[in-house]
Amino acid sequence: MTGSGAAAPIAPEPEHGPGPVAAADDVITWADFRAWERQVKSSGACSHPVRLHGRIDAIDLATGETAPVYDTSAEPGGVLHVACGNRRESRCPSCSAVYKRDARQLVRAGLTGGKGVPESVATHPCVFATLTAPSFGPVHSRRVRGKTVLPCRPRRDASKRACREHGRDISCNVRHSPDDPRLGRPMCPDCYDYEAAVLFNFHAGELWRRFTTYLPRHLARLAGVTGKRLRAELRIRYVKVAEYQARGVVHFHAVIRLDANTPDGFAPPPARYTPALLCDAIALAARAVRLDVPGSGPRIRLGFGRELDTRPIWCQDFAATGNPLDATAVANYIAKYVTKAVDVPGLPDTRIRHASEIGALRCPAHHKRMVATAWDLGARTSVGDPRLRLWAHQLGYGGHPLTKSRRYSVTFGYIRGERVTARQLERHPDGERDPWGRPLDETEVLVLATWSYAGTGYTLRTPAAELALVSADMARGR
Ligand SMILES: [Zn+2]
Ligand SMILES: [Zn+2]
Ligand SMILES: [Zn+2]
Repeated sequence: MTGSGAAAPIAPEPEHGPGPVAAADDVITWADFRAWERQVKSSGACSHPVRLHGRIDAIDLATGETAPVYDTSAEPGGVLHVACGNRRESRCPSCSAVYKRDARQLVRAGLTGGKGVPESVATHPCVFATLTAPSFGPVHSRRVRGKTVLPCRPRRDASKRACREHGRDISCNVRHSPDDPRLGRPMCPDCYDYEAAVLFNFHAGELWRRFTTYLPRHLARLAGVTGKRLRAELRIRYVKVAEYQARGVVHFHAVIRLDANTPDGFAPPPARYTPALLCDAIALAARAVRLDVPGSGPRIRLGFGRELDTRPIWCQDFAATGNPLDATAVANYIAKYVTKAVDVPGLPDTRIRHASEIGALRCPAHHKRMVATAWDLGARTSVGDPRLRLWAHQLGYGGHPLTKSRRYSVTFGYIRGERVTARQLERHPDGERDPWGRPLDETEVLVLATWSYAGTGYTLRTPAAELALVSADMARGR
């Protein structure tokens, strides 16, 4: 093997994105090489690129001969900048924009077809559902009926206006504007059940898992078939995103689609499974979810809130009738949330390592209290799950922003690969050639990559670096 002795495996935050595919001294396939190349080419506006030293050689498997394909010594400054691939808008505006675009395509493909999914999926029963958390105490909220904004929490009766224990005013006559900083803040922070709110976030993934277990049972009952029959003829597929509400509690937006249980995966289900039936089953399944979890005192019962929204998505036949929920709107709506973590100024986007950091946070008192609650619950004496501390900066929620069932549509990897292929075709319209000038045969030629990690960020003030830093600044300003 070639390479410098200092070569180190590269693993910058694997949970946040694709990252460079090549580790040190890796023999990779030509496809891997192309995936890597795609990242390099798109690092133009990345604000925290990874810097690499190294080279790539092609190996002819038949003769054992090697030929250079690429060497970073030819780059300005002798380093290569690889996009960080971070999906968080606050971390890297450029990489998160790419991720958001991919998410939109992924959701859309499951609604209208494309990316290898047949267009006929648009005829399948499909519902857009929002599963929220229950109330943990009165908070300021913007209430709208039609086009009228209603008072937040009017209470005419004086006895209902004050909280019983602390005497605080828990009524509010304000018609809040959408950007009112009071939105989501509890009216009496001492009555607000911070523990249950944090534990809801922490267990939200398990609540969703239970929901997906119950859903087929309720569907079967409503359709009048046995569970066995339902499993034989139906597949339930979904994609969902987690969104933080103003009060700092996550809720889920999901696209839930019914397919026939066929080997190729994408056929319409039997006619008895209608969108209306699916809406009813979703409501029943969501209300049935219960989870008893330990808190600092007695066990706390968690479940989804009463406010449940289910709406059929009409993708094809009904689009012309002007129904508001069309596929594009849904895809855009879901993509909006995948690059956002908690959208609260002053909350750190990395984990908290010591209790003293919480006191120093410059975020609203409400969110600070949620962070502190998660931190305390993570201590040995109460719930004792260390992940509560790991996820304290995310107010207890540790799940991914976007999850989906395997056959909802395609994977992020597929969409990335497609982009690589498209770019390849653009660059080599007559087909690609290997370093020996022959038409490329991926079974004959392998790629040997040798990398060493040289740091993150830009060291050179190149025009591309300047541009990336300026655009990151502008995004932060927004
Ligand atoms: Zn980046
Ligand atoms: Zn209010
Ligand atoms: Zn109170």
